[in-house]
Order: sequence, then C-alpha cells, then structure tokens
Amino acid sequence: MEDRTRIAVAPAVQLGGALFTPEQLIKLGTAAAPDSMIEMTNFRQLYIEVPDTDVEGIEGELQHSGLEVYPTGFVSKGLIACQFCRGAEEAGLSTAQALNEAIAGIETPAPLKIGYAGCALGTSEPLLKDIGVVKMRDTFDIYVGGDPKGLKPKFASKLVTGVAANRLIPAVIALIEFYKTHAKLKEKFSKFVDRIPLEELQQAAA
Ligand code: SF4
Repeated sequence: MEDRTRIAVAPAVQLGGALFTPEQLIKLGTAAAPDSMIEMTNFRQLYIEVPDTDVEGIEGELQHSGLEVYPTGFVSKGLIACQFCRGAEEAGLSTAQALNEAIAGIETPAPLKIGYAGCALGTSEPLLKDIGVVKMRDTFDIYVGGDPKGLKPKFASKLVTGVAANRLIPAVIALIEFYKTHAKLKEKFSKFVDRIPLEELQQAAA
C-alpha cells in the first residue's frame, strides 16, 4: 500500500454552520487515497488520508474549493462555531472567522478545542470546550476549562467578560501561549486550568 498522510479538512466558518457543497464532497472523495476511510470527528473536521506523493497539491485543490486544511494531532482545532442564526453582524461572523484563522493549527501540548457562540443561547456548546467564546451584545466573554468527556463532564469557568472585538484574538492567543509555556508535557487544557489559579490565567489573557 502506498504511504499516506492524514490531514484535517473543515468547511469555512460561515452562516448556516458546518456546510459542504456537493462539489466539495466530490473533491474530498477524489482526494482521499483509494481504500481509505474518511473520519467524521466530533470537532467539526473530517480526517482524510491522502497519498504522500501529492499532499501539497491535494491540499491546494481542497483549499481552492473553499475548504480549510489543517494538521491533525496535537494542535488547536479549527473554531467550533455556531450557525450564526442571528445574522452575520449580530452573531459576530467576521470576528469568528478571524479568530478561526488565528487559532487553527497551532501546535499545543494536547489537542485544544475552542468554541464560539454568537449569543448567550450557546447552541455550539462553548462551555464544554477547552476555551469558549460567547458574544454578548457588543463584547465577548471567554470561558476556560470545559471538558465533556467521562461520567462527570465539566463546564468551563468564566475567565473574562466584556472583551472588545479587537482584544478577543490577542486574549485567546495569549492564553494558548501561556498554556504552551506552562503545561506539563502532554497536560490537557482542562487539567491545566484546574492546576493554575484563575487569576493567573486572567492576567495571561489581559
Ligand atoms: S449561539 Fe446564538 S447566534 Fe449562534 S446559532 Fe445558536 S442561537 Fe444562533
């Protein structure tokens, strides 16, 4: 069997949620190595295996069709955003797209999931993500440390409130960098948040 590389593919952060066009699905089916399987993850990405001989060419074609391509493994996943049902402006679509671009694919001590909700209804479940961003009228609240796994799922704690749109990305990036610097080996972000005083995390995000 030919050597293969696994890549993560996601639809754009857009109105309506995680939507693929039929053409994009055809591209994905064509790009996948023969006899491979396409995995649907629970974090809004498809994992596909592509032949090692043309990884860059395939990634380029997928991106050209409007899909996003990221590394798999110990990285920050693409933004797990809501469907923006309140409309692009009210739900903060452009801010979410910029946040996705800033955070997706950053190497981290353990896989990192970041959620985004365009209003307090939080239908994308941001409080069950490592980092959750919730738009509240004209500003954003940031939550940390959610973990849906196990028999005792954990809700994220509110870290900061009233973050202006132009401060959101620097705050989230600063949190990720703080985690990268101070995590123990492959420490999960939710465990990291349990270990580090909230005030220190607040200072890191300030
Ligand atoms: S979080 Fe709010 S804006 Fe986003 S899809 Fe849910 S209800 Fe709509």
